[in-house]
Amino acid sequence: MKRKLFCLAFTAILFATPVAAQRLPNVVIIFIDDMGYADIGPFGAKGYKTPNLDRMAKEGIRFTSFYAAQGVCSASRAALLTGTYSNRIGIHGALDHRAKHGISDNEVTIAQMLKTKGYATAIYGKWHLGHHPQFLPTRHGFDEYLGLPYSNDMWPNHPEAKPGTYPPLPLFENDKVVQVMPDQSQLTRAYTERAVSFIERNKDKPFFLYVPHTMVHVPLFVGEKFKGSAKTGLYGDVVQEVDWSVGEILKTIKKQGLDKDTLVIFTSDNGPWLSYGEHAGSSGPLREGKGTAWEGGVRVPFIARWPGKIPAGRTTREPAMTIDLLPTIGRLANAELPKHKIDGLDIWPLLQGEAKAKNPHDAYFFYYNTNELQAVRSGKWKLIFPHTYRTLGNQPKAKDGIPAKYTNVKSGLELYDLESDMGEKTNVADKHPDVVKRLEALAEQAREDMGDSLTKRVGKGVREPGRLVE
Ligand code: MG
Repeated sequence: MKRKLFCLAFTAILFATPVAAQRLPNVVIIFIDDMGYADIGPFGAKGYKTPNLDRMAKEGIRFTSFYAAQGVCSASRAALLTGTYSNRIGIHGALDHRAKHGISDNEVTIAQMLKTKGYATAIYGKWHLGHHPQFLPTRHGFDEYLGLPYSNDMWPNHPEAKPGTYPPLPLFENDKVVQVMPDQSQLTRAYTERAVSFIERNKDKPFFLYVPHTMVHVPLFVGEKFKGSAKTGLYGDVVQEVDWSVGEILKTIKKQGLDKDTLVIFTSDNGPWLSYGEHAGSSGPLREGKGTAWEGGVRVPFIARWPGKIPAGRTTREPAMTIDLLPTIGRLANAELPKHKIDGLDIWPLLQGEAKAKNPHDAYFFYYNTNELQAVRSGKWKLIFPHTYRTLGNQPKAKDGIPAKYTNVKSGLELYDLESDMGEKTNVADKHPDVVKRLEALAEQAREDMGDSLTKRVGKGVREPGRLVE
């Protein structure tokens, strides 16, 4: 009897002793503004060096068909942070200081999702989802914010700005303007220093750090230390400073002993702004750039690193998109996903580099302007719908940050095989009418759901953005 009682007591103690809780992973997303597909070493950059990103790629996985949801800043950011096509939630184009709308309180950002699991959260960089107090990051899940509320070219000193067009550019700290920017050469360093401090301060609990750098968006600015560091000019200098920033963040994670607890993602919000010539990046082999649904506008460099969880030195050609990050991170943090419809799907098997992992979507939809469904990708196929897009044609490269003028031209109904033709050079629509039909049918579902201004359709599943309460 005594023995039995002892056993019972022992069992009770055993079950009452908490198992050391497994730490939830830290998540870091470094999101570069207007960086082209071929702008970093692991994606073929020439004329300057990105040693930290080279190392990050060697230690992690590269996605060679990774997409921003749209080829423009605000829309792209809305999609990344909510796991939802930005046109579904009423965010189109790029919001400036005149915008009276922004991200809705009804949407759930990655930061808000992770707050439910006790994460510390911070954003250092460009927000661009509304600059009025109700839209600022601190109202959408972030504990800390330092950065610009919209693009760095939306200011009076920009060479293209007409007098009186823009007010001075405000730098926000949480919900207050702390500085009116005289120039922007300190921004990359300032964001990086905050990021390093945030990691150090939060090393003992899970954190979400979002670093949407203001660079490499024009007008270009670089810190003193990197001025003239690239042989190829200012653009290379600026990329090298961003690479330094990535290095500082990775170094801090390692120093704090958090390498095996931290998923780090590096990518871009859209392709290069090609009209800026020498002040723009490169989409390499891809067609066109920012502001289009061609591959150069939406396909971006992507690296993910998490030692022990993501095998080193992998590359995948499977497509993926920023909308997939929220559900993937939700799974990793064991967090409940938003109750409303989101568009992203969990791509953890792909990130983990599983040999047979496939993209879980039937298709990705590429919207641009105010809700024009311009293209759809399914598997290796991309169907372009007749629309007007901007192109530079064969103009010489613009110099000194003064942009060249785009010409608007029209596309037809065009089909491309991205596996053999990533540059979208040969339209094979005539050869594959069955594929055209299948992708048309997928697009039709998207039109029903999210609308399409090219075919004058109103979607049943769209939601309103946040409206300014005055
Ligand atoms: Mg951008």
